[in-house]
Amino acid sequence: MNFDLTEEQRMLQDTVRRYLNDKIAPLADEYDRKGPLTKADAHRFLKELKPFGYVGTLVPEDLGGPGLTHIDWALLHEPLRGAWAGLGGTVGITSAGTYGVSHFENTALRDRILPGLLDGDKIICTAITEPNVGSDARNIETRAVLDGDHYVLNGTKMWISNGTIADYVTVVATTDRSKGAGGVMHLLVERDVSPFESREIHKMGVRSFPTAELIFDDCRVPRENVVREPGQGLKQTLTGLTFARANAAIASVGIAQAALDVAVRYAKERVQFGKPIGQHQLVQEMFADMAADIDAARLLAWRAFYLMDQGHVCFKESSIAKAFATEMAVRATSNALQIHGAYGLSEEYQVERFFRDARCYTIPDGTTQIQKLIIGREILGMSAFR
Ligand SMILES: Cc1cc2nc3c(=O)[nH]c(=O)nc-3n(C[C@H](O)[C@H](O)[C@H](O)COP(=O)(O)OP(=O)(O)OC[C@H]3O[C@@H](n4cnc5c(N)ncnc54)[C@H](O)[C@@H]3O)c2cc1C
Repeated sequence: MNFDLTEEQRMLQDTVRRYLNDKIAPLADEYDRKGPLTKADAHRFLKELKPFGYVGTLVPEDLGGPGLTHIDWALLHEPLRGAWAGLGGTVGITSAGTYGVSHFENTALRDRILPGLLDGDKIICTAITEPNVGSDARNIETRAVLDGDHYVLNGTKMWISNGTIADYVTVVATTDRSKGAGGVMHLLVERDVSPFESREIHKMGVRSFPTAELIFDDCRVPRENVVREPGQGLKQTLTGLTFARANAAIASVGIAQAALDVAVRYAKERVQFGKPIGQHQLVQEMFADMAADIDAARLLAWRAFYLMDQGHVCFKESSIAKAFATEMAVRATSNALQIHGAYGLSEEYQVERFFRDARCYTIPDGTTQIQKLIIGREILGMSAFR
């Protein structure tokens, strides 16, 4: 494995960091207090970030995308999540979804919707989770019934990132639950063609990142919006999650690094017992733990992205990166908060936001426990999932 950055990657890293520090990070606290991003704000930020390659990052140039690599994704997303994790969530979900669209075998649908997504004019999300279906994604209840040239969709999706602001939703549904994986399909629901209800779910962290309940009540979706036919949906869902997990890992690294950076500044300024608190040995221990944890998590995330750039579907490596990095970010942001003493609990210091944001990532894309079961399965060749 070679993690040497090219000249272009170093330039991308420098330019992006400068832009995020100047223009994005100063907005994060205010937007976090305002709550979920509005659709207009999301489009405005997508357009602002587009020139750096944040929109449809991995979409090949011949389809009109930036054609960047998975390692480039890591270079873009670590600092964005540190600057403003909530915005990073919205950008990451729509950019990853756009990459998904570029792989649609239904090329007529792909060619129709891809340009709007790549321009930042449209937003996409993916809906797997349901009220009764969380970790066990194989048990999808949302039903798709063929009726002439439409599928009729009935069901509720929960915790859908970008759900209230998305123009397009890739819905995982089943035509027949008794068939198990054989019935699972993907349908692209266009909100203006096939209207559905959405309701914001307010959560403790990444508050500006919209999260929604989506209700499909006899929602008629044209048959030409089938993305994956019945029987093809589950495998693709589980494979797609490997990228989402590496992304959660690099997001966590970004948040933890930002928490470390503010703690360093604070520990040099705050004086107790006649010296900066950073000079106390037990405070230094917290820094040492955070630094080692962050480095290890970054390397694990990069390994997963590197393998993806080589064309591998790396279930084990992306689960290791996700489990370690997301739990690490909870520890690291908690230490950064501790270093701030009582001020760490105040909304006037960013560190409480970092702590709340980090706490959200041990759950999506498979909880830490589920990642451990995947790692165990990959090592042992035996599955604990039934
Ligand atoms: C911020 C955020 C964004 C999200 N975005 C999306 C999205 O865009 N699209 C989408 O479809 N979903 C999304 N989700 C939903 C997320 O994927 C689910 O929350 C997650 O898969 C866990 O499901 P659950 O919350 O229902 O927990 P459950 O599956 O009910 O699990 C509850 C607890 O039981 C444990 N558990 C469950 N099964 C086992 C087992 N076999 N062995 C050991 N322990 C087990 C879990 O680890 C957990 O601790 C998001 C969630 C969050 C928090």
